[in-house]
Formats: sequence, structure tokens, C-alpha cells
Amino acid sequence: MDSSITVAQAIGTAANQLHPHVDAARLEAELLLSHLLGKSRSWLITWSDTRLDDQQLQHFSDLVNKRIQGVPIAQLTGEREFWSLPLRVTADTLIPRPETELLVETCLDLYPAENSITVADLGTGSGAIALAIATERPAWCILATDKSHQALDVAIHNAETLQIDNIQLLQGDWFDALPANIRVEVLLSNPPYIPMNDPHLQQGDLRFEPRTALASGDDGLDAIRLIISKASDYLEPGGYLLLEHGYNQGSAVRRLMHQSALGEINILTDLAGHERVTIGRSTAGK
Ligand code: GLN
Repeated sequence: MDSSITVAQAIGTAANQLHPHVDAARLEAELLLSHLLGKSRSWLITWSDTRLDDQQLQHFSDLVNKRIQGVPIAQLTGEREFWSLPLRVTADTLIPRPETELLVETCLDLYPAENSITVADLGTGSGAIALAIATERPAWCILATDKSHQALDVAIHNAETLQIDNIQLLQGDWFDALPANIRVEVLLSNPPYIPMNDPHLQQGDLRFEPRTALASGDDGLDAIRLIISKASDYLEPGGYLLLEHGYNQGSAVRRLMHQSALGEINILTDLAGHERVTIGRSTAGK
């Protein structure tokens, strides 16, 4: 049955309720209603006098309440854009962050687009990084791994929906998922890098994201240490290792790469001016 509440009134009420809890209350109210109705935000404005039915109103109020409890907007709508690709995300995947585009940009510049090289993305989650590289470089072969079957299902769904086929999605822990004896030109990862006891894990969106995708050991460097220690076994001579890390981990990552005999090490900063990605190169065969 139709309620007496219009689209405009529902958005206004929800924005007021969200206001004390989120930064962009009206935008988020619109995103939630647009997701629920399967209509664009411009539809909501054009048809703002449309009355919601009772069921829609109830569903909308449930979504707003979950948002007030802190559930990330991307988990409520099931979607987040990364590198202009609309990606499905769930509670089993990290929500892709804009700063991770630095890893993609850096990778794209390493080899000519027409070369047939192989890139491996370890711990791919929703597949964001691997899919962005795969769409930009159709001649490259992209391998993407994840230990979590649930995350891998999301990445497979994203690859299928976006009709990206120069990618193989493989289940297993870090390198274990890769085919035996493989060597790749580029290894990259946005691994978990937050220290286990970091209070940020109890705040904001991080509370609702998979802990295994966020935190790694007492200093946040366990996954990074493991990846760096094995990278040379999987890189072609002269191949590159690219890792995203925390803003204060650049020098530690550089030291670990140096200890593992990687060369040409460079720390790159993101748009916010934070050290975010470190790149090193296999010196084998040199
Ligand atoms: N960049 C994320 C954050 O600090 C963490 C992502 C990660 O651990 N890879 O919110």
C-alpha cells in the first residue's frame, strides 16, 4: 500500500537522522534510496513527489538505521566505484580506497601496453586492482589470488559483470595460489598492514571490514614481510614488486626490500602526500 510519504520527504527525514552520524547526510540518504528503488539520483529529484509504498518505507528506514549504527555505505548498497569501474563489495571484501589507485597507476607505467607480460595481484579482495589493470592493458595476463573463497566469489562476479577476461582468479594463501614454477613481470599487493592493536580498527568503517584484510601482526608488517621474503622466487629477472603500505611504513618496507636483495627501491606518495607505495626490482641475473 502507498504510504503518504513522498521521495522528497523520505530523503529529508533520513538526512536529518543521519546528520549527527555521517559527513554527507543528504548524499548518503539519496544513495540509499536510489539503491533501494533501483533508480538514479536524478530520478529521485525529478520524481520527488512519488509516494513510497509501506514496504519501501520500512526497507529504507532499516537501511538508514544500519548506517546510523556505522555499517559502511558501500556494504549497504553493495557497490563501490574504483578506477571508474562499478564493483560489487560485501562484508567479505575490503572496500576499495581511492589511494590504492596509485598502485594501479604505477603498475601501468612499468611495461609497454602491447607487451605480453604477467602481473600477479596477491590478496585481491573484490578484484579492484587486478580488474583496473586488466581493463587498461588487454594484452597483459593478470593473475589475482585470495585466500578467502567468499572474497574470490565477489571478484569472479565483478570480472564476469565487467566482461573482463584477461584475468585468472585463484584461491589460496598469498603465493600458494599461483601455478607451480611461475615467474611474473610484476607482483603487487595491497595487503593488510594495520597493527593488530591499532585503535582505528575499532572506529568507523574499519569495524565492519574483514579483519584479515586490514590487520597483520603487532607492527602491521607480517604480510608485507612474507611477500617481500618470497618475491624473488616468483619474479622474472628485472621484474617489479609493488606494495601498498601505511603512511608511516615506507622506511620499514624499503629496509625489508633491501634485505631481500631487491634493488632500485623507491617510495611513492599518494595525492594526500603520504608515503603509500614502495616499489623494488629483482636483481637476479644482473
Ligand atoms: N588503507 C586502509 C586504511 O587504513 C587499510 C588497507 C589495508 O590494510 N590494506 O583504512
